Amino acid sequence: MIRVARFVAAFILLALAGCEAQGANPRRSTDASPTGSPAASSSPVASPSPEPAPSSTEIAVDPAPASAPGVLRVGQAGTQLATAPRGGPAGRLRAGVMVPFSAVDNGWARITTPCELTKWMPVDSGVRVVRPAVVLDPGHGGDEAGATGPTGLAEKEVNLDVATRAAAMLNARGIPALLTRTSDYRASLPFRVALADASGTDLMISVHHNADPDGPLDKPGSETYYQFRSPGSKRLAGLVYEEVLRDLSKLPVGWVGDTDAGAKWRLNTSGGDYYGILRRSGEKGVTTVLAELAFVSNPAEEAILRQNDVRQLEAEGIARAVERYRSTKDPGSGFTTPYPRTAPAGPGGGTRGCVDPT
Ligand SMILES: [Zn+2]
Repeated sequence: MIRVARFVAAFILLALAGCEAQGANPRRSTDASPTGSPAASSSPVASPSPEPAPSSTEIAVDPAPASAPGVLRVGQAGTQLATAPRGGPAGRLRAGVMVPFSAVDNGWARITTPCELTKWMPVDSGVRVVRPAVVLDPGHGGDEAGATGPTGLAEKEVNLDVATRAAAMLNARGIPALLTRTSDYRASLPFRVALADASGTDLMISVHHNADPDGPLDKPGSETYYQFRSPGSKRLAGLVYEEVLRDLSKLPVGWVGDTDAGAKWRLNTSGGDYYGILRRSGEKGVTTVLAELAFVSNPAEEAILRQNDVRQLEAEGIARAVERYRSTKDPGSGFTTPYPRTAPAGPGGGTRGCVDPT
């Protein structure tokens, strides 16, 4: 979820403390980064192991030399980090983590970690991924769970699984798709946008599941938020809404939602896009949509969101929307005029207390 409903009590605000924040703050997060490396281990440098050939469901590897900027995927052995090229140890990163790099120096890449720390890693302990056609952004992660279902299903887990499935489908269909988060760890909003920016992509879809509906609805309460001034973002939001709704509507579920469910926008008091992922990526020229696919807070929807086939349906909807966005001029559907929202989004998305995935 990315917002708190109008009538929610303070204790619910606390319960939902993992949800995306920073919507109202037009400035880059000024949260202090941890001064000490969270992984001040003195473990020996891991020897890079050869990267296995990527399966057809993984984004392809770029064989070209690593010229900045770009994105590296940490190899199977993980990677040691350093304070400078061949410098002192500065922690580790887990296998599979995607990181943007902004410079290369004698076989070392200057990277930004998911907690927004600047460090160096050996280029050959990762692989460079090709320029993605789309970046899929699974919301939340680590100690930021996002919304939580009544029996404990965490939004972050569903977001990751659905986005991973959608990325695999797109990669298998020859449309390179990159994930901003590849397992269960924190990743700040500026990191996610920096990753998309460094990747050279034009498109991004942030995947979420919602909480705090207005009430029962006779159809899925899916919502897609677009960048207000971007016709492309609006069209992509309409296509994601149309495709996700097409599949979810087939399921016999007691849906819930907001009365203005559909493809819509939200602005901050300065007239910019309210949600940080939309505003920040827009500043980098990335056409982005934030999708709230279903309500994990609804017992009936939480139950189906535990099922792999339902997650697959959502992923199929996202993948088809990307394909249609690229190959047609279809406008999408479900556009709605949102009612005014003043309640702030929950906290999260910054770097306070952030621990990088080792
Ligand atoms: Zn969320």
